[in-house]
Amino acid sequence: MTAADAGAEVACSAPGAGAVEVVDSRPGQVGSYPVRRALPRRGRRTVGAWCFADHMGPSPVTPDRGLDIAPHPHIGLQTVTWLFEGEAVHRDSLGTEQVIIPGQLNLMTAGHGIAHSEEGTGYYRGLLHGMQLWVAQLSATKDGRPAFEHHEELPGLELGAAVVTVLVGELGGAASPARHDSDLVGADLELRPGRAAVPVRPDFEHALVVCTGAVTTEGRTVGPGQLAYLGPGRDELGLSAAVPARALLLGGAPFDEPLLMWWNYVARSLDEIMQAHAERISGAERFGQVDSVLPRMVVDSPPWS
Ligand code: MN
Repeated sequence: MTAADAGAEVACSAPGAGAVEVVDSRPGQVGSYPVRRALPRRGRRTVGAWCFADHMGPSPVTPDRGLDIAPHPHIGLQTVTWLFEGEAVHRDSLGTEQVIIPGQLNLMTAGHGIAHSEEGTGYYRGLLHGMQLWVAQLSATKDGRPAFEHHEELPGLELGAAVVTVLVGELGGAASPARHDSDLVGADLELRPGRAAVPVRPDFEHALVVCTGAVTTEGRTVGPGQLAYLGPGRDELGLSAAVPARALLLGGAPFDEPLLMWWNYVARSLDEIMQAHAERISGAERFGQVDSVLPRMVVDSPPWS
């Protein structure tokens, strides 16, 4: 991500009960790959602890030209990778090398520091389509040990016209085995034409990121490149689709800790970010090494340093 998306601003999360707002995503690129950045956006920086959401593609990849996201560091967040189509490889400084395909979840916890890359498989050719999400870690765990999980099986349920897969947290009695440090939910919704009533926690705020087709909620119809924000105070989300649609539902208790994001770092203070970036530049042990053929990602120092 770039400073333009998430400058050194404190996240403002001031949801009104019953509020619905539609926020346009910002078209962008990660490496040479096209994305639509749904979070963070001005005026809507977090939804629960979800602090970053890139809708990737659909766009073609080749065996040697894929996501090509070179090794880069993270602190204070979890990355959640979920594909609708295609294959990619995750490599990280813990020594993980993990192919991901649709229906499976990659979950990386950065804690005090980790580095990773997201690359082509060396064999897959075709469309790649998916989501890359970040969860801000709470102060209680953000300086903890880095970790990686891959889940091949995730719980699902049918709610009316929606086939739901729970990536993180719990929805409608189905609980994901994936680690989560705060109260949140992330679910994939496959809608056929019709209606669905999704039970949700009234203390959560939610967002619907539509990836294919169009979904109507609370009288607003949203499509790819849009996020529908739904404030707390609901126990059910009414969804309808006139055409087949695919969307991600993100939710959680409003994140009430101050949050500072710059580049790939999620922190509480400028000092934390500057310290992390100095260690990244010096090649300190904190971020380790990623076994990748791609040269590690380089950015200028923070503008305020
Ligand atoms: Mn990353």
